[in-house]
Amino acid sequence: MGDTIFAKIIRREIPADIVYEDDDVLAFRDVNAQAPTHILFIPRRPIATLNDLEDGDATLIGKLVLAATRYARSEGFAEDGYRCVINCNGHGGQSVYHLHLHLLAGRQMTWPPG
Ligand code: IMP
Repeated sequence: MGDTIFAKIIRREIPADIVYEDDDVLAFRDVNAQAPTHILFIPRRPIATLNDLEDGDATLIGKLVLAATRYARSEGFAEDGYRCVINCNGHGGQSVYHLHLHLLAGRQMTWPPG
């Protein structure tokens, strides 16, 4: 799948508005925000899509989700709510092939998504 723009962000080769990081997870603001708060949570390890997850990635995916939900709570979104989305491949609307979880908050979401 090759290098991605998110790998460049991890290596600090291009700038990003980073809001959270630990040994496994990095989180930064989406450049094309679809909500007042739109953060991307990514594993440092390059995993292209949801299809590439293996049993051994269960802890990593848990950490990704927990980082996002902790952030949402800390920013005061817990009560009103928020949305977490992972797009997969073409029909899922994935455009960057480094797994990422979108956290969208700060407005009323609609269903179904487009
Ligand atoms: P996807 O469509 O689910 O793959 O989401 C990719 C997201 O990455 C989109 O919402 C883009 O706006 C976002 N994005 C692309 N390049 C950058 C960047 O350099 N910094 C931050 N977000 C980016």
